[in-house]
Amino acid sequence: MPKKTRIGISACLLGKRTRYDGRYKGDRHVTGLFGRSVLWVPICPEVECGLPVPREPLRLSRTARGTRLVTKHTGIDHTVRIRAWIKKKIRELKKSLPDGFILKSGSPSCGLRLPGGRGIFAGALRSAFPDTPFIDEKKMRIPCSRRKFMKAVGRAVR
Ligand code: SF4
Repeated sequence: MPKKTRIGISACLLGKRTRYDGRYKGDRHVTGLFGRSVLWVPICPEVECGLPVPREPLRLSRTARGTRLVTKHTGIDHTVRIRAWIKKKIRELKKSLPDGFILKSGSPSCGLRLPGGRGIFAGALRSAFPDTPFIDEKKMRIPCSRRKFMKAVGRAVR
């Protein structure tokens, strides 16, 4: 049997209710493209580092001390907590690296293309795995970006 492609994916895109407000954000367009022959590796940095659902939304704050991940209204700083988790997660992923990652756009944790940079998890992941293909669900809707990603992870191009 051919080896299944393994894709790391923001857990909310798979339909897991990990968002700050618990809302469903599954993306059937993305998951449907791969059919059954893919092994999804869901990852939610905010929930896996110990934050609850629901929770106050987070934002990035660029400071002299570097980028901080803080709660949007009350300013609670979760940077140390999430960075400790990211370090552990990257060690784990190095042992069993997915063929590519599809991350949720616009998130201060998972976003690959935010004004001023990347989400705190997305940025660390890209630096740790520079040769691994990355994309977000919005770019998966752009045919040439989607084809490039699917080719890079060894899938039939659609
Ligand atoms: S965008 Fe990332 S951090 Fe936010 S709910 Fe989805 S997986 Fe979790």
